[in-house]
Amino acid sequence: MTSTRIEWTRSVWNPVVGCSKVSSGCKNCYAERMARRLVAIAAAARARGDDPGRAGNYQKVLNANGNWSGGIFLDDLSLHAPYGWRQPRVVFVNSMSDLFHENVPFDFIRKVFNVMNECESHTFQVLTKRPERAALFSGKLGWTSNIWIGTSVENDEVSGRIDHLRKVGGCVRFLSLEPLLGPLPNLNLTDIDWVIVGGESGPGARKMRPEWVHSIQQLCRANGVPFFFKQWGGANKKRNGRLLGGKTYDEMPDLAQVHRVRAA
Ligand code: SF4
Repeated sequence: MTSTRIEWTRSVWNPVVGCSKVSSGCKNCYAERMARRLVAIAAAARARGDDPGRAGNYQKVLNANGNWSGGIFLDDLSLHAPYGWRQPRVVFVNSMSDLFHENVPFDFIRKVFNVMNECESHTFQVLTKRPERAALFSGKLGWTSNIWIGTSVENDEVSGRIDHLRKVGGCVRFLSLEPLLGPLPNLNLTDIDWVIVGGESGPGARKMRPEWVHSIQQLCRANGVPFFFKQWGGANKKRNGRLLGGKTYDEMPDLAQVHRVRAA
């Protein structure tokens, strides 16, 4: 487990690394950039005669141009890490991959779920751009109440992911509308427990317009869905900050309410 600066979680756990791009939200994939850095760190360690450690795994999932190759590395060593965490943690699962990527075998997905099922003191946030595959396997997986499942939606073109998400188990269903690249006029928040909104950051960041954010915020308010505003993004995300109308919005799912609704 590694602590993280991602605003809506506390730490990351990567039993799987490697991915491939599925939609425009993936264009400037942060994980791919990070993987390149880790490959460079591993190469420097090897040049010094040191063990590159986990960073060495990333060489296996990037091609010669430093892009995702589509290959996946299943990290059996990381898989069992949650058993060793003493304090309860909120954990983003697979920040460097997508657990439901087509090249992650179902047996491995089940192993990841077994660990999450057995480590109930931790909260696991699984975020995927492949909710249709999650829906396909959902009935064969154990959805203990510590597992949250979310999907990323960057524009209206991929809003169908939300319908797939609704077919997946999970205590909390959430949306990561980041990087928000367009308006979401058809956003339907039925059975959605939490919404995160954020603009793209880093080199080549595409702009998020305030009116897109405001209309999502209003819809959340109208539906009583907690709203988390992560950032405006841009090339200098620190400078652009995360204030919306002069306020920060760090709302989190109301677990008591979610349990009541699911039990009804
Ligand atoms: S699904 Fe996520 S990790 Fe995979 S390429 Fe897209 S943005 Fe990157």
